Amino acid sequence: MSFELSPLPYADTALEPAVSAHTLSFHHGKHHKAYVDKMNAAIDGTDLAEKSLEEVVAAARGSNQGLFNNAAQTWNHAFYWHSMAADGGAPEGDLAAKIDETFGSLDAFKEEFANRGVGHFASGWVWLAEKDGKLSIEETHDGDTLADSGFNPLLTIDVWEHAYYLDHQNARPAYLKAVIDGKLNWAFAAENLARGTTWTY
Ligand code: MN
Repeated sequence: MSFELSPLPYADTALEPAVSAHTLSFHHGKHHKAYVDKMNAAIDGTDLAEKSLEEVVAAARGSNQGLFNNAAQTWNHAFYWHSMAADGGAPEGDLAAKIDETFGSLDAFKEEFANRGVGHFASGWVWLAEKDGKLSIEETHDGDTLADSGFNPLLTIDVWEHAYYLDHQNARPAYLKAVIDGKLNWAFAAENLARGTTWTY
């Protein structure tokens, strides 16, 4: 059995102008697909081919960096596609209360989330996560993931240059602002918080 490239949960124009169809054609159709294909090639014929993606990530962590990178990036990108929506809405209920309690306000969260993404050195991911009922902003470098971390990730943004260079060139702040201001999928974050366990591929 091999893993499928998870489809985009919206039309390829849904995230414009923050993330264009042109970017998605490369980011989903080339980059994400390559991670899936390389992972599948690495696990083909092994016991890992029968495991869940989360189990593959955990098994490869610390023991097989090449497989880990491709498996973690397969997971991270699927989670990232779901972390955005055409009309992201706003946090409500328990999630809104926790945002206010942790960051002071939604605007303060947005500013801190953007700042962490802007300040993240080189390639990686910035996350809104939950652990033991507490929210926090986390960062992972390169292909590293929260999939097997003990955190319950609620949202993520890819800050690799391939996520924004075609649309915003080197202006990572403009990309982050555009995503954070209108395209964060707060309904997805609320589902993840309510479930209380890590999203599965
Ligand atoms: Mn990416």
